[in-house]
Amino acid sequence: MGTGIPLGRWFGVRVSANWSVLVTLLLFTYMLADSVFPVVHAGSSKAAYWIAAIATSVVFFVTLLAHELAHAVAAKHYGMPVRSITLWLMGGMTDLAEEPPTPRADAVIAAVGPLTSLALGGVGIGLAAAVGSGLTGASLAWLGSVNVILAVFNLLPGAPLDGGRLLRAVLWMHYRDHARAAAAAARTGRGLGIALCVLGWFEFLYGGIAGLWLVLLGWFIMSAATVEQRTSRSEKIRGVTAGHAMTPLSFAAPDWWTVAQLLGGMPAAAFTEPVIALVDWDGQAHDLVTLRQLETVPAEQRADIRLREVAARVRARPLLVGVDADVAEIAPQLVFYRGVALVRDDGRPVGVITGVEIARAEHLAELGRQPVG
Ligand SMILES: [Zn+2]
Repeated sequence: MGTGIPLGRWFGVRVSANWSVLVTLLLFTYMLADSVFPVVHAGSSKAAYWIAAIATSVVFFVTLLAHELAHAVAAKHYGMPVRSITLWLMGGMTDLAEEPPTPRADAVIAAVGPLTSLALGGVGIGLAAAVGSGLTGASLAWLGSVNVILAVFNLLPGAPLDGGRLLRAVLWMHYRDHARAAAAAARTGRGLGIALCVLGWFEFLYGGIAGLWLVLLGWFIMSAATVEQRTSRSEKIRGVTAGHAMTPLSFAAPDWWTVAQLLGGMPAAAFTEPVIALVDWDGQAHDLVTLRQLETVPAEQRADIRLREVAARVRARPLLVGVDADVAEIAPQLVFYRGVALVRDDGRPVGVITGVEIARAEHLAELGRQPVG
């Protein structure tokens, strides 16, 4: 979701707003001033409509914040650190530093948000009835109904929406497996996002411009659910060590060897391994080359070019990890290290981890087995 406009600290939690909130607020203000208030309460001045619209939008923003703060307060109640709150298109994201300790805590933290919106909705509608049919009444009625809609929307069962978190809590209780429940809730979230996109597109084709807003909303949910999916996947392999997940390397080449020396001196078995680790004078692994990289060296230069020069032609270095490193920590980092980690024992190269090894560890975890190295 990126970073947004900082809004200071509330109850010790850093709050910021995504740019999409500003767009939503401007849109709502325009809608209220231009079409809602003049219809509901005819006869007031244009200025009165705009003042009421701006005030209503600001209060709406505060109710959004109240929804998110309810999540944050509940999380703190369960002893969970809350990193930040980011308000976005249709609500917010409360960034919790850890996963909830129990399914019950997960459910409560998820439920208090929509319950707050529902309660505020009830208060708004109640006050509107008490105040009567003036502009204030119209504003309160609008705020009340939008908060009810917000509560219902957030209860749609797909992560990252609150309904998705509730689904996760229920599945967690059922499977007794948090990672599996989180993966299922994220999958449902992606499905939900796609459905909203399609629905919005149809509305746009047959109805009007409002459909595009639904497409945007669906896209937001889809991308957030994809992030959740990735996180839940690497959570599944938490505890698996690099030494167990890696493909072992039987051979390492001295980095001062030329390409020709390697092709002549490398044991046949090593050619079936995914990479060739390079070691320095002390036998310490620091880089690697692949057959594909070697192929780029013209035949007439192979006797002159050293392996470390071939390795240096790729700007990104491999990630260097120890045999005891956790694969769940390695997986999300690979993308910054040309997709490969060199596993070392005391500095000596012993294996390699790429997307293939990560996928293997994930499949084994899914099957209830630990990789055996
Ligand atoms: Zn919420």
